[in-house]
Amino acid sequence: LADQSISEDELLADPVEKVMAVGGTPHPAIAAPADLFQPERVNSGGLDLDDAVILEETVAAITTPVNVNGDARVSPAEAVTAALAAFPEWSSTPVEMRAECLDRLAEYLEENRSQLMAIAVQEARKTIPDALSEVREAVDFCRYYAARARIDLVPVELPGPTGERNVLRHEGRGVWIAIAPWNFPLAIFIGQVVAALVAGNTVVAKPAPQTPAIGRFAVALAHKAGVPKGALQIVTGAGDVGAALTADTRIAGVVFTGSVPTAKAIARNLLADDDRPLVPLIAETGGLNAMIVDSTALSEQVVRDVVVSGFQSAGQRCSALRLLLLQEDIAEHTLEMLRGAMDTLNMGDPADPATDIGPVIDQAAYDSLMAYRASVKDRILHEIPVPKNGLFVPPTVIRLDDISDLNREYFGPLVHVATWKAGTLEATVAKMNAKGFGLTMGLHSRIAGSSAMVEQLARVGNLYINRSMIGAVVGSQPFGGEGLSGTGPKAGGPHYLYRFCAERTTSTDT
Ligand code: GLU
Repeated sequence: LADQSISEDELLADPVEKVMAVGGTPHPAIAAPADLFQPERVNSGGLDLDDAVILEETVAAITTPVNVNGDARVSPAEAVTAALAAFPEWSSTPVEMRAECLDRLAEYLEENRSQLMAIAVQEARKTIPDALSEVREAVDFCRYYAARARIDLVPVELPGPTGERNVLRHEGRGVWIAIAPWNFPLAIFIGQVVAALVAGNTVVAKPAPQTPAIGRFAVALAHKAGVPKGALQIVTGAGDVGAALTADTRIAGVVFTGSVPTAKAIARNLLADDDRPLVPLIAETGGLNAMIVDSTALSEQVVRDVVVSGFQSAGQRCSALRLLLLQEDIAEHTLEMLRGAMDTLNMGDPADPATDIGPVIDQAAYDSLMAYRASVKDRILHEIPVPKNGLFVPPTVIRLDDISDLNREYFGPLVHVATWKAGTLEATVAKMNAKGFGLTMGLHSRIAGSSAMVEQLARVGNLYINRSMIGAVVGSQPFGGEGLSGTGPKAGGPHYLYRFCAERTTSTDT
């Protein structure tokens, strides 16, 4: 599992230039808890004037290549053993103290924002606005789950007859395995980890193989924020590491974001051994997300939202638009405007602040997206030129003859388009439901009755009306789906922490 030439302290001191080693990191004074959680509300990207300093620092940091793959040299089994050993102490640490660790971690993430952004740009090929959103969302997850823990995880007195006392408690279950994706290598990684921790569990975290460095840096910051090293372990590696972790019969739960096949493989692992306890799996997987547009929609707004939802982050978001469903009457006009808007997109080096869309994550993603594009080349309605030197997949619009022609997710900047006839809105939603995914859906309509109908019929976790369909804000837009898209509960929502807990009721005759 890679070398260990860089210590966590070195990382904390300067992850990008990794020049200084520092000694022990005593826990900072406990900060006063924030009463209210205020989300950053900006995680769909975009820099404003106040970001000029961040931009300057980040660009400076990017000039030094990052290589922080080093990792605690423990095997998956050793990591689980260590996390088990740390469980009694951490699970009996008061909720307030656990929540304070999350608040401190939020501060450290903010303090190290430029460094984290630089790593995200280099390692995950994020554009600078996307990298900024990534850090802000990670901060939001820490603050939100800290605030929720203070509300949700206190013992609750329940009613009973005179002379009987009933108390419901929420406690940690044991060791959780947290397996994160490369597309949100900080935000989702940290969200999983801190939710499990604040609920009283210890955690073995596995970042995606493409993005180990940012995960390692985040874990170092969590330790500095007061999370005991035993309570949070990180192991890096490919799928075999994840398989070994989830096959370990001592674990108490798995939180996973990634592909449907991997989620199913994990579920099979968790059931493989007749003797092992039944443990929860929280899986957030893919989507086949449609945006439905009727003839009352505002074309300019539709086009802006299609570009953001389909092409931002090179389409590498679970929430991204895959299938644009235009009412027949407005299809031609909308597509003409969309072509114009696409032609203004700036594809290029993600480290260049002027870049709108960067490359895809790796060669394998590039090859499979380009092979698919080649297979549908007769149906390409529009594409834009891309730089020659790099893994750039052209943002592309692909015509479908029928909604039923697309049944899987292509995780890149490819938007399919089909049309529907006036009067068939209900049937159109039913066709999307029938595909079995249930993550996001967009609707552009000025007819209140249509919005109400789609809201009632659409079986998706996140419905976005008259706006873009990416960039769920922690605490405002709890994120996650159903069916092939995941198990719930929704990340960044008020019920998330409960799934990480054992619920225990004590009834006493007084
Ligand atoms: N939370 C992200 C969003 O709303 C999507 C997460 C994902 O792609 O996994 O855009």
